[in-house]
Amino acid sequence: MQTNLALEYKNRTEGQEAEAILRKCVHCGFCTATCPTYQLLGDELDGPRGRIYLIKQVLEGEAPTRKTQMHLDRCLTCRNESTCPSGVQYGHLVDIGRKLVDEKVSRPAGESALRWALKEGLPSPLFAPAMAMGQMVRPLLPKALKNKVPEKRSAGERPTREHARKVLMLEGCVQPSMSPNINSATARVLDAAGIQTLTAKKAGCCGAVKFHLNDQDGGKAQMRANIDAWWPHVESGQVEAIIMNASGCGVTVKEYGHILQHDAAYASKAAKISDLTKDISELLPELVTALKPQLKNATKEQLAFHPPCTLQHGQQLKGGVEKHFSELGFNIKTASCEAHLCCGSAGTYSVLQPELSYQLRDRKLGNLQEMKPAQILSANIGCITHLQSGTEVPVRHWIEILDAALPSS
Ligand code: SF4
Ligand code: SF4
Repeated sequence: MQTNLALEYKNRTEGQEAEAILRKCVHCGFCTATCPTYQLLGDELDGPRGRIYLIKQVLEGEAPTRKTQMHLDRCLTCRNESTCPSGVQYGHLVDIGRKLVDEKVSRPAGESALRWALKEGLPSPLFAPAMAMGQMVRPLLPKALKNKVPEKRSAGERPTREHARKVLMLEGCVQPSMSPNINSATARVLDAAGIQTLTAKKAGCCGAVKFHLNDQDGGKAQMRANIDAWWPHVESGQVEAIIMNASGCGVTVKEYGHILQHDAAYASKAAKISDLTKDISELLPELVTALKPQLKNATKEQLAFHPPCTLQHGQQLKGGVEKHFSELGFNIKTASCEAHLCCGSAGTYSVLQPELSYQLRDRKLGNLQEMKPAQILSANIGCITHLQSGTEVPVRHWIEILDAALPSS
């Protein structure tokens, strides 16, 4: 698709990058069929092709409006662009489009305040005490707030053994207070396989929350801080990988190299960090070999797996958890219908677009519950919390189930 960049964008990196992405789009509309917001709303402008067209208009100098902003806001950034036969990198394009539109279209005060509170609050050190307080008074909270506050659960002990093989793990910003067992379980499972888990104290939020709420400079600052925190471990060759157990963080850290490509001081370090980054499920082939003889308590119950968009589309990691869990003797399946669709969590989307988000959640739960699972498994804290808010069936990270099947748990 040819784009005649308006003068104001011709010399901007964003304009040039967007133009290169747009050039690949042949306007075929294959992507529309798999887009969750198009499926819910049936409006071309709420599908990828329509949004691409809106962004092209802005780049060519047409003034964006609140309506343009609304259609871009409604996008889940679920990365279902993987259905595109031309390889259009829609995810990068929509980040650029949102930034350019927000430069020209102001938001009502309440909306701006909510977005500010999310981008500053979630990665803040105050989030953990606020969550602890919320968990204490959880039974008294109104439903909308209770949905965001998971019940308090114990993290268990972290292993203390040393191993020659070491990995770094990102603890994340909200995960340690919302579901601390995910990080502990990761360390225990790796320990059982002879791999030591290190964490860098100064590493924090991966930067996705700020980046996708249009504070791209704030997001990049968090990315540089993580690189600085990890670099001594990487440079010394002490760690063989940087492990992510939240697929939303994983997809972001794997893109540090792309996002910081024009930053002379960080570009090569960022590329190295992205190269070393792995979702924990990428270790499953070797974990199966190491752990199979040790698994004593593998549940025989039916498990339903919801692959997050950031895992199956963003990182293109499809089928690994199901395949390797089956090899380990678990009874696991994905939904037979719409397994590719987003659950509606999508970072801060469930707060900013609750109506669409809860429709998608209930649709997803309906498909998962058809198999009458004893537990629902997923791979991202956002999806886990969001799905749990709509069902009594326990929703857990798959690493917690693997951990619980080990004898020491
Ligand atoms: S993004 Fe890809 S699938 Fe969608 S209209 Fe463009 S070329 Fe077709
Ligand atoms: S990222 Fe998801 S919601 Fe957004 S346009 Fe693509 S498929 Fe639709």
